[in-house]
Amino acid sequence: MKRVAVLGSTGSIGVSTLDVIARHPDRYAVAALAAASSHERLLEQCRAHRPRVAVLEDPAAARALEAALRAEGLPTEVACGRDALAAVAGGADVDVVMAAIVGAAGLPSTLAAARAGKRVLLANKESLVVAGRLLLEAAAAGGAELVPIDSEHNAIFQCLPPGGAAGRASPGVRRVLLTASGGPFLRTPAERLAGVTPDQACAHPRWKMGRKISVDSATLMNKGLELIEACLLFGMEPSRVEVVVHPQSIIHSMVEYVDGSILAQLGNPDMRTPIAHALGWPERIASGVESLDLVAAARLDFEAPDVARFPSLRLAREAAEAGGTAPAVLNAANEVAVAAFLAGKAGFNRIAEVIEDVLQGHESTAATSLEGVLEADARARAEAGRRLAARAGVPA
Ligand code: NAD
Ligand code: MG
Repeated sequence: MKRVAVLGSTGSIGVSTLDVIARHPDRYAVAALAAASSHERLLEQCRAHRPRVAVLEDPAAARALEAALRAEGLPTEVACGRDALAAVAGGADVDVVMAAIVGAAGLPSTLAAARAGKRVLLANKESLVVAGRLLLEAAAAGGAELVPIDSEHNAIFQCLPPGGAAGRASPGVRRVLLTASGGPFLRTPAERLAGVTPDQACAHPRWKMGRKISVDSATLMNKGLELIEACLLFGMEPSRVEVVVHPQSIIHSMVEYVDGSILAQLGNPDMRTPIAHALGWPERIASGVESLDLVAAARLDFEAPDVARFPSLRLAREAAEAGGTAPAVLNAANEVAVAAFLAGKAGFNRIAEVIEDVLQGHESTAATSLEGVLEADARARAEAGRRLAARAGVPA
């Protein structure tokens, strides 16, 4: 029996993870659940999955959960805050950690799980973008297994020869082809992008996801973060990772070998496939995902991404090439700008503008310490906030 901690359990990936786990009560038990503030949802999950501990970031929400659990006579302990979360992720009663918190907020718990040698199911791509080398080193030192959940990276993982380690290049690979759906604005003319709303940006044609990653998919920053993620996970230079727009989202990514062979992983766009793969690996377990009907799908199209309309992808490639703290700065500025867009305080095109401004003012240094990376992250957040406020007419 594997004991699983689901961090970010109330989100899109968290809910899909619990769905897969519930299909295999003989193999997996939920040891811990964690979320930011949604205590009512977490209470329902505690009823259904009976974890030993539930962690909330928000103290008032944690008190509400505690009261509700005691009133129902449920035994789940409640903990609160970042340190408690890291302790749970690295705790002795956990074998597998689903890292599905959104944003750099997921870094401390992901690092703790890596250091403690867990199997880490890595959905939280931002933690890799912010502190890639450090996270890979922590996993190697702790003896952790990093299994990617991002559908593209999980596809690549499945197409690579077995026995590879995270961060190390596999022999015989020429390049990786990262597929992109193109997002909701694939066909939106440039002049209309400035006026798109958060709800339009979050209406993804293929995937139902949290709002932050949905906006990232609309700007193509999601593909940019994934490019950085691929370079780190698979030991590749950015020039060997090509982004291909594939609107049907049936091929989840491909690996090309030096002999010209291209291996692809296909399936319905449902995150339960990569989640089940990563939980069961190297075995295969059922996920609840329907068979792909290729005849109904009929065609697979490919096109080049438009970096003129979606400059975030270019910015991410530049940050990948610059290395050091540049990806952390890119990610931090993006998180702040996306939050402003979702709050109705910045236009869609402003997201990439702010990121570019912040990156231009940043001198990339080597990302060799966690303190250094977190300092770059904090400075970039402050800088992005100043630039957004200045444009909004508020004194910086
Ligand atoms: P979401 O917004 O639906 O869920 C985020 C979860 O994290 C929620 O449970 C929330 O309560 C929790 N959370 C946020 N801040 C927290 C904090 N400080 N402490 C504790 N918990 C916190 O997001 P999502 O779509 O599930 O995405 C989660 C991660 O997975 C992201 O990094 C995203 O890029 C990645 N991912 C998601 C998908 C997808 O299909 N949704 C696909 C690939 C990768
Ligand atoms: Mg993805």
